[in-house]
Amino acid sequence: QSSTPEALRVVNLLQERNLLPPAPVPAPTPCLTQDLQKLNCSPEVFRSTLTSIPQTQSLLNKAKMPLGLLLHPFKDLSQLPVVTSSTIVRCRSCRTYINPFVSFLDQRRWKCNLCYRVNDVPEEFMYNPVSRSYGEPHKRPEVQNATIEFIAPSEYMLRPPQPAVYLFVLDVSHNAVETGYLNVFCQSLLDNINSLPGDSRTKVGFITFDSTIHFYNLQEGLSQPQMLIVSDIEDIFLPTPDSLLVNLNECKELVQDLLKSLPNLFEKTMETQSALGSALQAAFKLLSPTGGRMSVFQTQLPNLGVGALQSREDPNQRASAKDIQHLAPATDFYKKLALDCSSQQVAVDLFLLSAQYCDLASLGCISRYSAGSVYYYPSYHHQHNPAQVERFQKDLKRYLTRKIGFEAVMRIRCTKGLSIHTFHGNFFVRSTDLLSLPNVNPDAGFAVQMSIEENLDDMQVVSFQAALLYTSSKGERRIRVHTLCLPVVNSLSDIFAGADVQAITGLLACMAVDRSVTASLSDARDAMTNAAIDSLMSYRQSVLTIQQPGLLVPACLRLFPLYILALLKQKAFRTGTSTRLDDRVFAMLQLKYQPLAYAMLMIHPALYRVDDLTDEGALNINERTIPQPRLLQLSVEKLSREGAFLMDAGTVMYLWIGRNCHSNFLTQVLGVPNYAAVPDNLYLLPELDTAESQRTRAFIGWLRDQRPFFPSLHIIRDESQLKASFMQNMIEDRTESALSYYEFLLHLQQQISK
Ligand SMILES: [Zn+2]
Repeated sequence: QSSTPEALRVVNLLQERNLLPPAPVPAPTPCLTQDLQKLNCSPEVFRSTLTSIPQTQSLLNKAKMPLGLLLHPFKDLSQLPVVTSSTIVRCRSCRTYINPFVSFLDQRRWKCNLCYRVNDVPEEFMYNPVSRSYGEPHKRPEVQNATIEFIAPSEYMLRPPQPAVYLFVLDVSHNAVETGYLNVFCQSLLDNINSLPGDSRTKVGFITFDSTIHFYNLQEGLSQPQMLIVSDIEDIFLPTPDSLLVNLNECKELVQDLLKSLPNLFEKTMETQSALGSALQAAFKLLSPTGGRMSVFQTQLPNLGVGALQSREDPNQRASAKDIQHLAPATDFYKKLALDCSSQQVAVDLFLLSAQYCDLASLGCISRYSAGSVYYYPSYHHQHNPAQVERFQKDLKRYLTRKIGFEAVMRIRCTKGLSIHTFHGNFFVRSTDLLSLPNVNPDAGFAVQMSIEENLDDMQVVSFQAALLYTSSKGERRIRVHTLCLPVVNSLSDIFAGADVQAITGLLACMAVDRSVTASLSDARDAMTNAAIDSLMSYRQSVLTIQQPGLLVPACLRLFPLYILALLKQKAFRTGTSTRLDDRVFAMLQLKYQPLAYAMLMIHPALYRVDDLTDEGALNINERTIPQPRLLQLSVEKLSREGAFLMDAGTVMYLWIGRNCHSNFLTQVLGVPNYAAVPDNLYLLPELDTAESQRTRAFIGWLRDQRPFFPSLHIIRDESQLKASFMQNMIEDRTESALSYYEFLLHLQQQISK
């Protein structure tokens, strides 16, 4: 027998305690011939939990690992081949797009890699526009790139491509005015108004609301915007349908006038009520004819008219161990409205800026089923919470200027025999494999679970293809296609050797969110622990040839128990620690919606020591030197009172300063004379002209640049209120109500050797 591959090297977790690699874990490479792998889809866009696909469902069942795909289909790419051709070559039987993993029987025929039908190569495909040569169809860009975009001809549209339409729906109740968010929103839109994706046809509109609904007539020719109030919220009508959504180019001055005056209009309001439901209905009516993007800003529990909600949270139960109530929506109003929106190509993004419980479990449905997204700024306040203000500003900039696709659908096809049975993310499932996406944004992730319905006998490889059809902001119908090819194996050891531990963790997190809502949080927690026990038990019984004491795992799964423990202590699933219900629900929404790379940071934050950054091993990007400190395990054992440590938890970063932090870091990076002088609520690093300051800021800036949202930075001392949030991420340590990593390993071992 040949030597064991590295992925299957046996690791005893009870003995080897320093398993966290110093740098981020790369995605495993599928075991394919070099020729195929060279053409394969990037794992950042498309990856599978098992990079070797089991030949049969019974083999998959034995492995006890979930089979599924994780996608980031509309990710910003630095390089994207775009093909314009009058015929898009697709399989006549299963409609798969021609791709790098088809086979050419001869010059004139290709065999589909999903259904195996033989298709003719059309004449046009014989000409290669890249090399400008004839007669080499296998050199066409479609068969040289796993990720490609087509400009779609007219048969790919049901109606003329719609213009970009943006409608902003703004809470202006007393509470909303208190938070001061309107200023930031209006300023941000003023700053970015020329960068909104679109063309000369782009339309915008505004609705504000409290106990009544306020429309704004922005028609060309008016000397100033005209506010129209509809107070009968039970029967919403549009006062002047044609002048509420206006052409941005033609009416830009009026729009700018409105944005400048809006923050002052409600300054002295006494309105405490919020008729969000009616405002959404009005917005839906306004957008129905065209579709588009509805951005909703809400600061409190809606308490008037349709869709009104009750406070369901019991603060005394926040830490209760067993079951967390009210994770499911209280009403189907928001889901129903989202489905109506979806059918009219309207997506709803929700910005929740609130200090109080808002029932995100109910409100979130409006985005979830309309392919929107939810942004959450707890305790937002223009004065008291400057870190949230900064994050809101930065997020808005990204939100307003990132690319967008309208009236999109996505279909995921797999080789015959494989079948998708569950989807995760924000969308509406229109038919078994067709996702309806009124909007598609470049920051959305998706996951799917699969089963093997027919044995994959005699197959060397299988393929997966995601096709995203959308209207660009310039009014072009486009199709972005990603194709992933994976080998088929028929032994358990090969399945284990190809396990992608991060993808498995990400998929299990999605599954656990569903389980928490449909069954209970304790069920979901048990299921995650069992996933670790069952798969490692299967490995021990069926793959491992040596039997020795300890908790033995293959090297590719050596971080699996750690990640599962991290999930159990994640805000979404933790028990025993006081967790606000909306915070928990938001964490769940994020786990389902974030692309894997960002979800992993939420699950298992990255910890670095940063008071001794050096240029050794640093990256050089755009003439800047970016230090690369090693990753540390999430345990207080790794902290030192003499140091400073940065924890990157995805949407938030903490810079913890040790009590005896050496003065060099305090003076050269923080700009303070001593530890006691570190201010409370510090969230910005001063721009000091020192090498230490430059290194630290370069590193943090580089981390922030890797993601599309803006993580706020909190600089904390031992006395800081936020210290608890930092310490709660030390998931390897024991707490009053949760096991340490070592205890968790012992628990797993005990279950496995039963
Ligand atoms: Zn086919």
